[in-house]
Amino acid sequence: MIVNIIGAGFAGVEACSFLSKKGFNINLYEMRDKKLTEAHKTKFFAELICSNSFKSLSMTNAHGLLKKEMEELDSLIIKTAYEYRVPAGNSLAVDRDKFARSVTKKIKNLPNVNFVNEEITSLNDFLKKDEFLIIATGPLTSEKLQEEIIKLAGEKSLFFFDAVSPIIDASTINYDIVFPQSRYNKGDSDFLNAPFSKEQYETLVEELKNADKVLPSDFEEKKIFEGCMPVESLALRGVNTLAFGPMKPVGLIDPKTGKEPYAVVQLRCENINKSMYNLVGFQTRMKWHEQKRIIKLIPGLENAEILRYGVIHKNSYLNFPLIADKNLYSIKKNKNIYFAGQITGVEGYIESAASGLFTAYALWSGLNNRTILMPDKTIIGALQKYTLTQNKNYQPMAGNFGLIEREILNKNGKKIKGQDKRQIMAEESISIIKKFFHLHFN
Ligand SMILES: Cc1cc2nc3c(=O)[nH]c(=O)nc-3n(C[C@H](O)[C@H](O)[C@H](O)COP(=O)(O)OP(=O)(O)OC[C@H]3O[C@@H](n4cnc5c(N)ncnc54)[C@H](O)[C@@H]3O)c2cc1C
Repeated sequence: MIVNIIGAGFAGVEACSFLSKKGFNINLYEMRDKKLTEAHKTKFFAELICSNSFKSLSMTNAHGLLKKEMEELDSLIIKTAYEYRVPAGNSLAVDRDKFARSVTKKIKNLPNVNFVNEEITSLNDFLKKDEFLIIATGPLTSEKLQEEIIKLAGEKSLFFFDAVSPIIDASTINYDIVFPQSRYNKGDSDFLNAPFSKEQYETLVEELKNADKVLPSDFEEKKIFEGCMPVESLALRGVNTLAFGPMKPVGLIDPKTGKEPYAVVQLRCENINKSMYNLVGFQTRMKWHEQKRIIKLIPGLENAEILRYGVIHKNSYLNFPLIADKNLYSIKKNKNIYFAGQITGVEGYIESAASGLFTAYALWSGLNNRTILMPDKTIIGALQKYTLTQNKNYQPMAGNFGLIEREILNKNGKKIKGQDKRQIMAEESISIIKKFFHLHFN
């Protein structure tokens, strides 16, 4: 059986490694270094285009837990990352050059992998053949292929940039201050509102103006930026710009004062069980430590924990839940075609590798009458579930505990919280993934 994989990034190589172990013959297509993307600089597979860190190793941190789950599933990326680890405290950081060279060598040495150094500009030939196709071309998919993907998935299914507001852990919000209400009480009270006095608002605007920001790269500034204004840029336009824009209070009455606040930050829930909320209109380029500091200035979010930081950068990704077959994990239109990696709406190096792994597993298990989806009490399975969950505002998602949030009670029926709760969830998740590997991967 032949599988064609386009893109030798994090998702492509992880998929390739899994399918090679299962005996498939693989054609792996990668355009670098004949053609580079706007951010990649080398010809090596799984190039880390920005930070050289795969983030925390702590099991009570979702990134740490995801890596541990991947390790249990025999991930090529995790194994190689440990081989080329550099000192970085409790994080897993790598020597990016040695890491990428090693991944490239390991993949090229696989006996059933045929590497083709070519930019794919048309999908026609693949669609004619009775072979599988995994498209794993990432956030910087080349333009011609983007057009082909639009033909396949539909015009409204491909987004071109990522302008994401920070996401907050719902259990860390102070509900004595933040109140649920929709504007003019229209519809359900799906929004939470953080009310500001004039003084609190002006302090926030001042801090936003002076915040430390990530500077956009040239290609981002030119191509992406219009129509998506970061909150700190709005603050620079004038003291009242935010109060008349994303922070307008009209139609909202604070039940504690019976009055309209001077300004509000609205929070919109991110998932069905309302364990995560995003800050509406707060897309930002502020550095992470600044987001942490400034979000604490929002009334009711003094102790808020950020599950996902805001970002703005070029990122081609699909409205994957709209086009995916929920049973097979292929696309509805054609059961031989799969997408993997950041293009499906996961975000981050390891999340993309995880997506390569669960997509390849879905392809293989579909042919073998096995359970197709990963268990959703694990971070890896919950991420996969996220990519299948319809959402009006589908946006890329990194691994986080909000995805597997549930109530855990102690012997006396009291809710277990914080680190203790995460420790229990992490141990459960590892135990589930070990059983899953034993039962389904072999
Ligand atoms: C500017 C920027 C900075 C980022 N910084 C970070 C960070 O610090 N930490 C983090 O965790 N994540 C970061 N990300 C996200 C990170 O890039 C992804 O999570 C990860 O690389 C995605 O893996 P992937 O396999 O989906 O895509 P990629 O790793 O990008 O791999 C896709 C591959 O497909 C190839 N390709 C594209 N089009 C074609 C074509 N037509 N034919 C053949 N090959 C093609 C590309 O050359 C590339 O090798 C960043 C993203 C961007 C855009």
